[in-house]
Amino acid sequence: MLTAVLGLCLSYAGAQTDALDKIKNEGLKQSKVMDFAFHLTDVSGPRLTNSPGFFRAANWAKDKLTEMGLSNVALEPWGDFGVGWEQNRCYLAVTSPYYFPVVAIPRAWTGSTPGKKAISSDVIVINAKDSAELYANYGGKVKGKIVMLYSADTLKPSFTPDGARFTEEELEKMANAKPDTSRRTLIGRGRAGFGVLRQLPDFYKNEKPALVLSMSRSGNDGTLFVQNGGSYAKDAENNYAYVMLSSDDYLRIQRLVMSEQKLNMEADVKTTFYPSDIKGYNVVAEIPGTDPALKDELVMLGGHLDSWQGATGATDNAAGCSVMMEVIRIIKATGLQPKRTIRIALWSGEEQGLLGSRAYVKNHFADPADMVLKPEHAKVSAYYNLDNGTGKIRGIYLQGNAAAGPIFTKWLEPFAALGAKTVTINNTGGTDHQAFDAVGIPGFQFIQDEIEYDTRTHHTNMDTYDHLVPEDLAQAATIVASFVYNTAQLDTKIPRKELPKARPAQGRSF
Ligand SMILES: [Zn+2]
Repeated sequence: MLTAVLGLCLSYAGAQTDALDKIKNEGLKQSKVMDFAFHLTDVSGPRLTNSPGFFRAANWAKDKLTEMGLSNVALEPWGDFGVGWEQNRCYLAVTSPYYFPVVAIPRAWTGSTPGKKAISSDVIVINAKDSAELYANYGGKVKGKIVMLYSADTLKPSFTPDGARFTEEELEKMANAKPDTSRRTLIGRGRAGFGVLRQLPDFYKNEKPALVLSMSRSGNDGTLFVQNGGSYAKDAENNYAYVMLSSDDYLRIQRLVMSEQKLNMEADVKTTFYPSDIKGYNVVAEIPGTDPALKDELVMLGGHLDSWQGATGATDNAAGCSVMMEVIRIIKATGLQPKRTIRIALWSGEEQGLLGSRAYVKNHFADPADMVLKPEHAKVSAYYNLDNGTGKIRGIYLQGNAAAGPIFTKWLEPFAALGAKTVTINNTGGTDHQAFDAVGIPGFQFIQDEIEYDTRTHHTNMDTYDHLVPEDLAQAATIVASFVYNTAQLDTKIPRKELPKARPAQGRSF
């Protein structure tokens, strides 16, 4: 390190190197990122938007940011979201032909099993090719019972590792890429006909089973992927209990029932809805800029605070929020005086369609439906997002903004030894930077190693603190702190792409 010599140098380059060394020292050697993560995961619990756990985390973050000396700290309402919800009890077990406990999690915004005690019932497997068959064969037969839809799936052993980092070849390919479209594919499943699937919610509402079992989309080995099963809309009917089982348990129960073994289950599922305040809230806070000419301009950073309910949303996205709070801590601890104002935002409603960030952008900057620009639109230099799990940063997606490429390439140079060097013209989707990009404000998501994101943690019952990689998060916080600080100090704002045209059709639904 050249700190001692260059720290005394008054040149711009010298000051930048000094700042970088301070950031690296604080971020890599004094990291507190796991303290933030502990409070957001273990202490707060699941953070489904508008649930008690979400507000535990949001209020803790607000208090912490206030304690760190930030200004304008608030839980800022962004508009109507819907009702909160949480699980209070979830007990499922097979009691006959012999006892075994079942791995299950209630689907979000679904109801409770009837009565105060556990129900006891045989299990009915619904196997119908169309709605006529559904009503003919099962109408009047499922009231008060536990039901499950027939699954033709079988589990296959996996010969690939759960966790992975990008290889040099993969990074090289990204660096040389032309703009891409999407990166995720869903595995097709052998299930009942689509017509039957669409009929089922009404069938269950009319026929009143005590509990509906469903099978996790692609998890096995006890990992289950679970999102919602009901609606967060204010007056939605979410009356039946609806839980997600691990595929291992689901298929075992199905086999026993279909072989006409006498199978009996006990279940006690209790959930609570919170309809009193349907507004959604983001946590926001600022480090005020110090340069008289630039302090009204903004550098923004964020991640989403909300999670699903199956675990504590550690990699999705306590990781991103902890890193962004650590970025703020690093900048404050180093005593650096950013020229532009730095604003952190921890979003809600991300899992329901980037709702918190899109509404925030609409309230502050522009509505993509009409593209009438508000004054603050011109003041944002860039928004940086982290929401691809616990993996360290390997580079950055330019989101098609070629002019930002040379700037970011230079800013990554000091981090090559930490594995971050790739700048790709590619877009990446599914995270809150898209809300900014949609109105022509430079919004970026970093390239992160996937680790176990798609195999074990993303929207699963395994997304817990222990699946976080501390050294990866410390690396990420250090790099984001450097990007945020550099953006705050740059002579100009980050170059913008051509302003998008108004898209009236997308005003509500994206
Ligand atoms: Zn997610």
